Order: sequence, then C-alpha cells, then structure tokens
Amino acid sequence: MTRKYNFSSGPAALPEPVLRRAQAALWDLDGSGIGVLEHSHRGKAFRAVIERTTAAIREVAGIGDDFVVLYITAGATHHFTMVPHNFLGEGDTADVCHSGLWTTKAMAEIRRFGKAHVACTSEPAFDATPGPPAYSASPRYVHYTSNETVYGTQWATPPANPPAPLVCDASSDIFSRPLPLANHGLIFAGAQKNLGPSGITLVIASKAFLATRKPGLPPLADYMTYVDEGSMYNTPNTFGIYMIGEVVAWIREQGGLAAMGERNARKAAAVYQFLDQSRVWRGHARTDSRSNMNITFRGATPELEAKLVARAEERGLTGLPGHRSVGGLRASIYNAFPEEGVHRLVELLDELEREHR
Ligand SMILES: *Cc1c(COP(=O)(O)O)cnc(C)c1O
Repeated sequence: MTRKYNFSSGPAALPEPVLRRAQAALWDLDGSGIGVLEHSHRGKAFRAVIERTTAAIREVAGIGDDFVVLYITAGATHHFTMVPHNFLGEGDTADVCHSGLWTTKAMAEIRRFGKAHVACTSEPAFDATPGPPAYSASPRYVHYTSNETVYGTQWATPPANPPAPLVCDASSDIFSRPLPLANHGLIFAGAQKNLGPSGITLVIASKAFLATRKPGLPPLADYMTYVDEGSMYNTPNTFGIYMIGEVVAWIREQGGLAAMGERNARKAAAVYQFLDQSRVWRGHARTDSRSNMNITFRGATPELEAKLVARAEERGLTGLPGHRSVGGLRASIYNAFPEEGVHRLVELLDELEREHR
C-alpha cells in the first residue's frame, strides 16, 4: 500500500519514522512488555515518557526555567475559554490582534469574562497579518494567532511592543521555526497540526504570568493545577504525550527548529513562486504575510478548482479543498509534510494551467 500525500489542515500528516515507532510502542513500550496505551500514568515507564518529552521540548525550543511546559487534555479551543477564565476579571480588557476565524472564536470567549479590544485587524479579507497594533490603556494580555490556519497568513515576528504579556495561539505553526518566547505570557498549541494527535494541547507558560491568575478557579480550569501536579491531576492523554515526545525527538534529529524553519520556507516558496507567475492560479495572502504552513489559493474558475481536487485525488494528493467557511483551495504543509509532495502539487497545477484556455 502506498501512502497518500496528505494536505489536510489537521489532524495532519505525521513523520513516517514516528508512526513506525508508535506502531511498535502500541505493542511494547521501551521493552516494558506493556503497550503505551496500557501503562499506568503513575508508573515508571510512563514517567520516563513524560520526562523525556518535556526535556526534548525544552531543549529543542530553548525553554528556560522561567517557563513551564504543560499538557492539557482537549484542543486549542479549550484555551479560548481557559485563558480569559484564568486572567480576566470583570472590567478587565484583553487586547486582540484580529487575523481571522481563530481570533473571532477567542474573542467570543474573552467577552464572557471581560472586554475584548481589537488592537489591530485585517478584516474583512484577512489576507494579511494585521498591524501595527493600537493597544488599549492597560490590557491584561494581548492575544494573537501566530499562524492563521484558515486564511493562510503567518506573523513574521510577534506583535511589537505589547504593554502586557502576549498570549499566542500557535496551534498551526508550533515548532515549525524557532519559537519566540520574549514578551510571551502563554503559548498554547493543539497538537494535531505539528505535534501529534488531536485532543491534547501543549502549553508553554511564564511562571510570572501564571502567578497573576485569578484565585478560586475549578481545578481542571486552573493552569496552576497542571503546574502543581505535573500535568497529572487526573489521568492525562498518555498516548498524546508519548506522540508529542516522539515528534519532538524527530524534530531534533532533523536539526531542530532552525532547520525545520529553513525546510518549511523552501517547501512553501516552491508553491508561492509557481502561483506568482501563474495566469490561472492566485494566492490569497499578501506577500508579506504568507504562511509557510497553510497555502491558500484560488483557481480562475470554480470548475478549475474542482478539476484540481478531483485530479489530485486520482494522483494520491488529498485534502486540498479550503476551509468550509472560505472555500477555495488550501495546501497544508506542516513540518512532517514531505518535500516531494509539494513538487507533485506544483506539477499538477502546471499541468492544469496548460490545459486551461
Ligand atoms: C486547529 C486550530 C484550533 C482548534 O483546535 P481544536 O483542537 O479543534 O480545538 C485553534 N487555533 C488554531 C490556530 C488552529 O489551527
């Protein structure tokens, strides 16, 4: 059986060596005679897994002692609620750099607890990262999405001169390039794009920022519970943690985040260069805001777009339709997406362009 080139936006392609190792670990984790799904989270074997996972994350991303690394069951969406629940009192304001669907969702949750101030926005087209921000007088934090998965835009650098800690939704570009920690209070990333399976979120948070959370929160809604209990107040997503550890070890083998960044830039450039000179295919995002993870584009006609999706499927290229809210086409090419698949896509776009008149 040959595997397809999977352009899905998430859950998304994982590194093949990691999938092979995980297959073996389902049967027998590290020679323990018990599979990874069957180990107690309090036992020695799983403790070794979570410890090596956190060590690998700290090493690869250059995370010092002033930050904690947490694993929280459920997706990134959970943190749209959890962040304001922890940090926004009545009358408090969170500033938002509004770049698309994901900040729309985050703002709706912020408004349950306090006020949302739109510091900058790229609506309605969302074809760029917004900026420069006009911050409110004294926000509790500044929320932004480092990579807008739906519209295909990515911040080159985080919002400048924030007057309060940055909170970053890095779900779709975590560890795809060096991680900027300066000015950040909390970074969260659902695992299913660049890190592992769905249903688990990696959180990297500054101890100083966490110390300012509101008192009296329910335990599973309180970030400090995860700090105090080593992400094991209750049974964590043990398999998710195992997978994140394997993926991060793979990233380290590839040369780390700088090397990932170079490879991702090269992969994306191959597609963007083609789109830039094409008569019939056109990229959505402005040149200065283009995402190296999600390439959003359109064809000259809906028929051409449909033809691409159909012929791509015949060739084993799958997952190209755009998000249901915006349509068009989207090629998601996260860390694990192979370079060869990118060239196959460009060949196919070229082939359809030649046929089109
Ligand atoms: C996928 C995604 C989410 C949502 O993740 P869930 O695991 O479905 O909650 C949030 N933010 C961004 C930027 C995403 O790409």
